[in-house]
Amino acid sequence: MLVDLEVTTSIRGVLFCHSDRLARLEYDAARVNRLFQMNSKLLGRSLSGGVGLSTHEGRTMFMMQASVGGMEVHNTKRRVTRKNKRLAEQGVMRGGRRPFGWAADRESLHPVESEDLAEAIRAIPRGTKIGTLRKEWFTKGHKKKQTRKGIARSGARDMPLDHNTVEHILTNPRNCGYMSYIPQAQRQEEKSMLWLPDYVVYTDGKPVLGPWKAVVTPEEWAACVEVIKERKDKRREGLNKPHETADKYVLSGIARCGICLFPMTANWYSKQSPSYERYGYRYACLSNHGGCGGVSRVGPPVEELVIEAFLDEVRRSLRTVVKDTEVDETVHDERLAEIEREIEEVNARRKAKRITMSRALDLIEELENEGSELKEKRQKLMASKLQRKTEYPTLLKEWEDYTVAEKKHRLKQDIRAVIVHPQGRGRQPFNPDLIEIEWAS
Ligand SMILES: [Zn+2]
Repeated sequence: MLVDLEVTTSIRGVLFCHSDRLARLEYDAARVNRLFQMNSKLLGRSLSGGVGLSTHEGRTMFMMQASVGGMEVHNTKRRVTRKNKRLAEQGVMRGGRRPFGWAADRESLHPVESEDLAEAIRAIPRGTKIGTLRKEWFTKGHKKKQTRKGIARSGARDMPLDHNTVEHILTNPRNCGYMSYIPQAQRQEEKSMLWLPDYVVYTDGKPVLGPWKAVVTPEEWAACVEVIKERKDKRREGLNKPHETADKYVLSGIARCGICLFPMTANWYSKQSPSYERYGYRYACLSNHGGCGGVSRVGPPVEELVIEAFLDEVRRSLRTVVKDTEVDETVHDERLAEIEREIEEVNARRKAKRITMSRALDLIEELENEGSELKEKRQKLMASKLQRKTEYPTLLKEWEDYTVAEKKHRLKQDIRAVIVHPQGRGRQPFNPDLIEIEWAS
């Protein structure tokens, strides 16, 4: 490997489990370091221990970890880590700070926080934004814990919790009783940026439960996680248009012009117009926004028509769907359990020197990928289960209390567009036949 690194035509660098897996003697470590010092383009990283050989600090660290004294320390650390993972698999709770929602014993619920947490987790799938929650929580007294330095920097003693912190709190598997386990190395590296749902502990293909009281059901948690994940993905793809006049009008962006298909904008009648008193605003294809300017329609009647059709559809699917296609999220559990066993088997074969380390890593990575795909599917199934069972009935009950943003979010899931076809010139009575609903498939 040292020769390959020196020539650099065959390999670009090395990835190693831990420093003491690459070198155990200072002399060997020095030889490796010299190559990386000479060629800054070489890549060298450890999977645990956070060593990167491209920097001077990294190389010093590598040297230290590889030396005999350091080695013993790190071995113990890793032994502890392995033990922690086993404990997590047995559902044993670790110590740590009091999590939001629980009392000091970390098992029983905090009477106020747990209620607010449960409510928030259920509100997210309805379209509530993290930003709204942050404000709400702030007024309820859930504030950012600040250091003296932080207060000096921001100039404010009381600040709402950070977006990331709230996201972190809501997506925590602990909320539905699931045990999670984060390896020490990752814990130090990223802290609150970690996506906790990825760290749920499974045995026999099923999530392990901790000894504490859950705040919500696994279905509710999964539904919340799915929605937050979708929003993150959209933000990353830049699909969340920065300015949607959006949240004020149920159909802006959903209604489209029947002539040019351009999204229609809510547009207020002038105060002199008789329609101002009666309807307030209309949906219009605006030429200064890029449309043809050919179609407009009174706002509230279109909204009423669309919402009625949507609620009818919900009632209809409630009557028909629920019973015959009961969602079963456990379909993948057997395979997940099998994957665990297969990984152990590969490891055993590697230890017995029947296969090489690189072959073993290939096999294990493949199995791990399959496993995380299945876990994700499981979570999605669970989320849809909740939607069928509880979302539809509560939707009908609570629809009137939804905010415009929530109504809109919900409509968008089932309705792809509302086409407003042109009607003749002059003032005419509202004609429902000219409104066409395009349902999402
Ligand atoms: Zn148009």
